[in-house]
Amino acid sequence: MREKIWNAVNNAGKIAICGHVRPDGDCVGSCMALYMYVKKAYPDKEVYVYMDGIPKVFESMCRGYDVITDYRDVSPDLFIALDCSDSERLGDAREYFDRADVTINIDHHISNLSYADINHFMAKSSSTSEVIYELLDENLIDKAIAAALYTGIIHDTGVLQYSNTSKRTLEIVGNLLDHGIPSDKIIDETFYQKTYSQNLLMARCVLESRMYLGNRCIMSVATKDILEEYNATTEDLDGIVNILRITKGVECAVLMHETKIISEGEDISENSGVSEYKVSMRANNDMDVSRVALMYGGGGHIKAAGCTMTGTLEEVTKKLLSSINEVMSSIYQMV
Ligand code: 5GP
Ligand code: MN
Repeated sequence: MREKIWNAVNNAGKIAICGHVRPDGDCVGSCMALYMYVKKAYPDKEVYVYMDGIPKVFESMCRGYDVITDYRDVSPDLFIALDCSDSERLGDAREYFDRADVTINIDHHISNLSYADINHFMAKSSSTSEVIYELLDENLIDKAIAAALYTGIIHDTGVLQYSNTSKRTLEIVGNLLDHGIPSDKIIDETFYQKTYSQNLLMARCVLESRMYLGNRCIMSVATKDILEEYNATTEDLDGIVNILRITKGVECAVLMHETKIISEGEDISENSGVSEYKVSMRANNDMDVSRVALMYGGGGHIKAAGCTMTGTLEEVTKKLLSSINEVMSSIYQMV
């Protein structure tokens, strides 16, 4: 597979690298690392990296590089999609994917749909950054590439904490540290640090959370009103569902946030209107939230998955809880 991928790179003149919509640490890290590497290893090729809405905390990783957000008129020979389980996740860049002569999909999501000409997804890898590391020639990895890969691995493993952290993940991290990267700074500044107002929003989401399904599911909803109150964007919600997940006894944690108001309800204060909600889920023990996400056209991993749902808050909550209950019941009957 390694050979097939590098052959495709060798044969292409114009190469586009792209991650998913609302890029996270692994997406930005893997895209930037591959971009820097291909530019270095193949100085004669035209290489483009596309990402839209890069969270502020990752901006320093991209500084000095021409990250394209406006989707210029480029028809690449080769399009490499990173960290995307399906081509819909490419958002506006999907057009460039469709236009490319050859497409490659490099990922680590169990729900990957093998949508490209060359599909390389390793469900056991902690992150796409880890998958990318395995494809690179160690001798060409420099400090900037190492820092980008490290950031990606740190984010998708919750600072090497989640069960997707393997012995190999730690070996790779060890090798990356040899490049003299500011590891403590990367962890603090991109993972843990929150603004005062982000902390207040987190506190509010925890305060508004409710327990369901015999206290095995915790759910909180950030409505547009709440987000406005804290002058917050989606990016500010990062990490909150992980805080909900560590509630004792919980198998499934859910954070929903309202992304679009479709129709106002009769009584606005009752949230009776129809809206679109982005659902973010985390699992403990044997629970598999990717199965729930897939029921609603989303995807992800066993322990972290997401989808988008539309309806009144009551409808969406009811449907989601019923699906979580169904998956949970089937899993715990089997054990
Ligand atoms: P988060 O809850 O942090 O947004 O996402 C957790 C995981 O689920 C990520 O790995 C992400 O790629 C995946 N995910 C979240 N939302 C969606 C979605 O709408 N579609 C797909 N395919 N995956 C998603
Ligand atoms: Mn990832």
